[in-house]
Amino acid sequence: MTLRRLVSAFLLLAGLLLGGTGTLAHGAEPRVCVAKLASGEPAKAVIAQPARFDCASKQVSHGAGDFVARLDFPSIDVPQHEPLVLRLPSMWQDHTTVHFVFADGSEADATFTSRDAADRLTIGAVFELPIPERHAALTTAYVEIHGATNLRGVVIGAHVVTAQQAYMTKLLLVAIYAAFAGLAVALIVYNVSLWAVLRNRFLLDYCLMVVALALYTVSSSGLLTILDLGLANNDRLRINYVLLALTGITAIRFIRNFFGRDVYPPALVLLTKTVGWMTFISAIALAALSPWEMRLLDKGYFVMMTAMLASGVPLIALAVIRRAPYAGMFVVAWTAPLIISALRAAYGFGLVPYSILLDNSNLIAMGIEALLSSIIVTARLRQITSERDVALMAERTARLLAATDPLTGLLNRRAFLDQAIGRRSQQRLLLIDIDHFKSVNDRLGHQLGDSVLTAVAGAIEQVRPPRSLAVRLGGEEFAVLLPRAQADKCTPDAILEAVRCAAMPRDIRVTVSIGFSEGRIGSEEDWKRLYRLADAALYRAKADGRNRACRATDFRDAA
Ligand code: GH3
Ligand code: MG
Ligand code: MG
Repeated sequence: MTLRRLVSAFLLLAGLLLGGTGTLAHGAEPRVCVAKLASGEPAKAVIAQPARFDCASKQVSHGAGDFVARLDFPSIDVPQHEPLVLRLPSMWQDHTTVHFVFADGSEADATFTSRDAADRLTIGAVFELPIPERHAALTTAYVEIHGATNLRGVVIGAHVVTAQQAYMTKLLLVAIYAAFAGLAVALIVYNVSLWAVLRNRFLLDYCLMVVALALYTVSSSGLLTILDLGLANNDRLRINYVLLALTGITAIRFIRNFFGRDVYPPALVLLTKTVGWMTFISAIALAALSPWEMRLLDKGYFVMMTAMLASGVPLIALAVIRRAPYAGMFVVAWTAPLIISALRAAYGFGLVPYSILLDNSNLIAMGIEALLSSIIVTARLRQITSERDVALMAERTARLLAATDPLTGLLNRRAFLDQAIGRRSQQRLLLIDIDHFKSVNDRLGHQLGDSVLTAVAGAIEQVRPPRSLAVRLGGEEFAVLLPRAQADKCTPDAILEAVRCAAMPRDIRVTVSIGFSEGRIGSEEDWKRLYRLADAALYRAKADGRNRACRATDFRDAA
């Protein structure tokens, strides 16, 4: 009973939230008594025998078939100026006739079938029958239903409201559905756009979930019938089952892929997938075979839906336990839809009474969930992109390290050649070799010798123009490559001077010799030729006494 009290408290709260949609306008809900019709028996015969009506036992205990349900109203006045309507939540039926009986003995009939339900069904999937205006009060309505599956009852949630109240209810529902439709469209566009850029799979899963939910809403709201596309109302109910299952399946899939495989053991992934597939199969079976064995198939469906719902619990719990980012926000976002889905499952098992609120509170809860989830998705994307930025930076650093000489920070030989070969304009190559470096090493030691190499590299860096390349070719040999058009921006003399002036360890004097050549470097052959020429010029500079630059004059230099 505590459960019932909790559920009632929840429904009351949901009712308040919905501004009283579906609450009774005139006193209590009518008492419903049902009588099962024998095959071919006319309803009139049963109506004439009040003893045939069962008001005590549960309606579902009578099983599927043809029925007359008697609705006993606490005397309802039908004022001329305020028309009334009977609202009957949609149920599986082939053919329904409602006989209204008034206090003065007058009667009136209204009829609809599963096929022409579009004329009677209103938003929220409720059949709405105007009660003819009479001077006398409405006392009883007999609802004759053929082909009732009676899964949760023959007539459930029937109530009478004023036309004005019915109108306000519909207005409110239309506003809720329209808001939800806008939200769904925005979420889909937003997530598809993000997916187009970022290619994270959970973004598509999120869209699938919203699409499934939106389609389920179109179906469960009755819109699919109201649009009058030639779809029988019973077929809409079949579609409802499948779309509700798909909404659950896509939601579980989204949660699974959002946190990823690092959080979940393969066995849990397999389990949730299996439960998802079995739920889908049970929905398809129910949709395809109903009303055949509908009671059994419906039970199977609700068992699978409950199992699927339950499979979401370890998914979220594990994310929380493993401290996955955003798990806490997930719990907040999904609590309301999970509780409401649990209530729906409870309703499926007959543990909770029918309420029109269930469908609509589901929508609001999912709307809140969708909004919160989109915030979570954004946060997760921020995390992913910052991870990506860090990785990119690391890669850039690694590439830089692979391209540079670790001692001097200049390009290394391989990176230099990669960038040099292919320069089609006239280039100048300056080969720079430290003079008597061997003796520098001998005097200062290898370590300070390294400092001399760094100092020379620094001097070269100082004088070379921005679009030139500076490289340590090996040992104490460096090179600068620059477009010939910029040759005057980095003359050999400038380099010689820069090295002479550079601060050296223990203030020793260090000089370099330079050999330079000019030409295009379209291919490796071109490079070799240019290098040979510059090397020969360098040799000459050394031979002429070092601490000077020599130009490669002609081909004989390269010989
Ligand atoms: P020259 O004026 O004719 O160029 O005489 P050099 O002594 O500079 O030329 P040589 O080729 O005879 O000697 C180069 C020396 O550079 C030999 C080697 O020990 C030293 N060397 C090569 N690589 C490094 C290095 O990375 N660090 C240090 N400290 N010394 C190096
Ligand atoms: Mg040398
Ligand atoms: Mg050398």
